[in-house]
Amino acid sequence: MVVVPEEVKEAAMGLRYPGENTRVIHQYRRDGSVCSSDAAMSVMRSHDGWVFNCFRCGLSGFLPLEDRDPKATKESIEKKQIDRRPCWTVALPTDAVPMWGEWNNKAPVKAFTWLYKYGVGDDDIKQHRIHWSPLYNRVIIPVYKFLNTKDKIQAKLLGWVGRDVDWKKGDKGQKYLIKKINGTEFRFVIQGSTDKVLVVEDVLSAIRVHNATGYTAVALLGHGITTTLLNQFRRADTLFIWLDRDVLTKAINYADKARQIGVPAILVNSELDPKLYSADEIRTLISFKKGV
Ligand SMILES: [Zn+2]
Repeated sequence: MVVVPEEVKEAAMGLRYPGENTRVIHQYRRDGSVCSSDAAMSVMRSHDGWVFNCFRCGLSGFLPLEDRDPKATKESIEKKQIDRRPCWTVALPTDAVPMWGEWNNKAPVKAFTWLYKYGVGDDDIKQHRIHWSPLYNRVIIPVYKFLNTKDKIQAKLLGWVGRDVDWKKGDKGQKYLIKKINGTEFRFVIQGSTDKVLVVEDVLSAIRVHNATGYTAVALLGHGITTTLLNQFRRADTLFIWLDRDVLTKAINYADKARQIGVPAILVNSELDPKLYSADEIRTLISFKKGV
């Protein structure tokens, strides 16, 4: 049983929302000595508590939510409310390392294997800024919103999707972990040609169908197709809806919704996930539908 250091408990008070994190000095080692003079201890709020990890001595563990001092919680909440922040911000895990360039040896082979298996290569990893988090043991895919301003395109981080690469069917843990800003339309969008738009369910499928076609690709990430989303694609001449087979009824409804606002929608029906097809197969599946 790992004893939770005092500085971790203190830091936890200030981290109210999942995704928030900080670094502190790891002072209180068991023998009373100081571990490091730099902020080597990372503390991260998860849904049900705080994960801590010291990059110097390797001490790591978990502080469950219910262990937090209720009085201190109240004080911390009151202090936060004075800030009157309209919404909270989101950050990548503090320990996340890029999986491209000079850092690419920091991620384990299994992380690359998982991506390569679905045809997501080094260029895609770099383009989409895919990271690895040792603490979460997950591949971290950031989700950005790109804002077109007068002279530049600004990227705003909306959150991230973390995939447990060890996850297997029947496992108890979560396959996907999602951290996001509350109340935003959380979709992964790759901008391509604007007259054709492909809607799929997951990020890797979006990357694959975009690479195969050059069309704009959207991953729904477990959400539905909303009117707000459809309005972004009003100018499209074709909206391909390519979802898993078990949600066919939903897909039909989405297509109806699109047609109602004047966006021609085509359902793509396939045996497997889009990411499991080759680029040629993806193009065939799409153009076949185009001809119908
Ligand atoms: Zn330490």
